[in-house]
Amino acid sequence: MESILLLSYDFRPLRIIGWEKAIYLVIQGKAEAIDYYEKIIRSVSTEIVLPKVIRLKQYFRCKKKVRLIYRKSAVFSRDQLVCQYCSKKMGRSEATIDHVVPRAQGGPSTYENTVTSCSSCNAKKRDRTPKQAGMKLLNTPKPPEKELLQFQPEVEKMYESFIAELSV
Ligand SMILES: [Zn+2]
Repeated sequence: MESILLLSYDFRPLRIIGWEKAIYLVIQGKAEAIDYYEKIIRSVSTEIVLPKVIRLKQYFRCKKKVRLIYRKSAVFSRDQLVCQYCSKKMGRSEATIDHVVPRAQGGPSTYENTVTSCSSCNAKKRDRTPKQAGMKLLNTPKPPEKELLQFQPEVEKMYESFIAELSV
C-alpha cells in the first residue's frame, strides 16, 4: 500500500507514514491532505481519496522523549566535519570518530560521548580522556537535532517529488 508523506505545520518533511495513520490524522482533524493519490479508500460509511501528502494542522511539540538512533554520519554532520580538537575541516573520508571517554575506559558510543576528530588528533589522544591527553574539545558534544535524524532518504525522495509537482 502507498506511503504517505507527513509534513509539519510549517511544511517541513517529517516522516513517511502508512495510509491508515494518515487517514486517521485527517479524519481526526489533526492534519489536512494537500496532495492525493488517484485512489479511493472506501469504508462502510464514507469514501476518501487516498492522500499522498498530509500536513499537520498544528505545531506539535514532541513530548515523548525520542530515542535517537546513533549514527556516525550524524556525528559528522553535527560537527560539520570539523575536528573537535584542532578545528581542521575535513572531507568525509578523512574524518574519524573519537570517543571522548575512550571505549577502553568504558565510554559509550553515544552522541554525548563521540566527536569528529582528524586521524592525527585521534592518534595523539589514544585511549585517554581529553584531560588525560591534555587536549581541549571545541564544543561539548550534544545529540543532533531530532529533525535531522528523521530525514531519511525515502522521506527526502518523496518530498522532492512533491515539490517538483508543485512547481509544474
Ligand atoms: Zn585534529
